[in-house]
Amino acid sequence: MNHFVSHLESALDGTVFPAGQLHTVHQGRPLWVRYDLDRARAAVRPEDFAARPPSLWRYRELLPLPLDEEPVTLGEGMTPLLPCQRLGQEFGLDHLFIKDESQLPTGSFKSRGMTTAVSMARHFGLRRLAIPTAGNAGGALAAYAARAGMEVFVFMPEDTPRINQIEAHLCGARVFLVNGLITDCGRIVREGGARVGWFDFSTLKEPYRLEGKKTMGLELAEQFGWRLPDVILYPTGGGTGLIGMGKAFHELRRLGWLKVDRLPRLVSCQSDGCAPIVRAFEAGERFAEAFPNAHTIASGLRVPSAVGDFMMLDAIRESGGLALAGREARIVEWMQRVARTEGVAICPETAVCFDCLELLRSAGRVDPKDEVVVFNTGAAQKYPETVPLNLPRLDKDRPINYEALTR
Ligand SMILES: *Cc1c(COP(=O)(O)O)cnc(C)c1O
Repeated sequence: MNHFVSHLESALDGTVFPAGQLHTVHQGRPLWVRYDLDRARAAVRPEDFAARPPSLWRYRELLPLPLDEEPVTLGEGMTPLLPCQRLGQEFGLDHLFIKDESQLPTGSFKSRGMTTAVSMARHFGLRRLAIPTAGNAGGALAAYAARAGMEVFVFMPEDTPRINQIEAHLCGARVFLVNGLITDCGRIVREGGARVGWFDFSTLKEPYRLEGKKTMGLELAEQFGWRLPDVILYPTGGGTGLIGMGKAFHELRRLGWLKVDRLPRLVSCQSDGCAPIVRAFEAGERFAEAFPNAHTIASGLRVPSAVGDFMMLDAIRESGGLALAGREARIVEWMQRVARTEGVAICPETAVCFDCLELLRSAGRVDPKDEVVVFNTGAAQKYPETVPLNLPRLDKDRPINYEALTR
């Protein structure tokens, strides 16, 4: 066999599905891709990865695409893990890191999921895809589908950042603005699929985006020398990032590749303007109720209800972590503080994580000695609308008062 997938499995009730066939969901809920980890362990050792090109496809034995097939790629993966000493000091932390996903193609971690999912879509002969998006997923899918020569329909809320509208449009996607939320866009994609036969690329409604997101966890392990940090803060919308990382850590543990058995505490960070997972976590629920009147400028977090809610909650609880709401009103301030202190232009979603980190530190729930990783899931440059600007103007034809200018 030229791939290591053993089967797929319902995350809801464990129903098994064969590998090598097109799959979507089971009873409306996601599927896990399962691997023959014994065969993978025999085929590759952790030391081998360092000699491979710095792309997420280096973890080929833990990805679904058959080994003899070329992936649809834009050169994604191996994002830097940046030690942030100055910022760490402000939080009273000795070991604070930013894993900077903004350096990926299309400027967000969404490209990780799309390289694997579009590669698998091409493998299964799909030609026509549709996606509801809060912004970055639509832009990333449009880019990878263009590279694969596929047709894409993108549905986004009408207040989605303009850059996301432009990038999807530029890549030739058919883009539609909807006067509602991502859940309304999701309904349109679902209904349309039944009518015109496009394939539904919604978050977690096809199994392979998650496998790409998983590589964040694999990379982190490799960058930490096959250990893992103590705490990970991750901005959570649809949940693929968080769920994917949790999956990666369990696979690594079962492979026996980790030098330390303890897994990181996962902190799911949401805005207090849209925090369905935080509410469900605090109430001890298995599923999350839709969050009413969801609003946040962190568009990637504007997901009032998610099909993977129970998978997120499981991942958080199994890790001994928690779900926490950062303050919407502090987003712009954190974007500025992190960029000024470390030169890293973080997205509003990640700004929410830093507010959560402050709350955790004041509550004494993160220790000064803990190794803490905050994921910067996207580039601030994709959100020009969020930062209020009133820059001074200079008249080139008049004398400039340099003393006043440098005061
Ligand atoms: C999509 C997105 C998120 C949320 O990720 P999920 O996997 O949907 O939870 C966070 N940040 C950015 C920049 C995003 O585009």
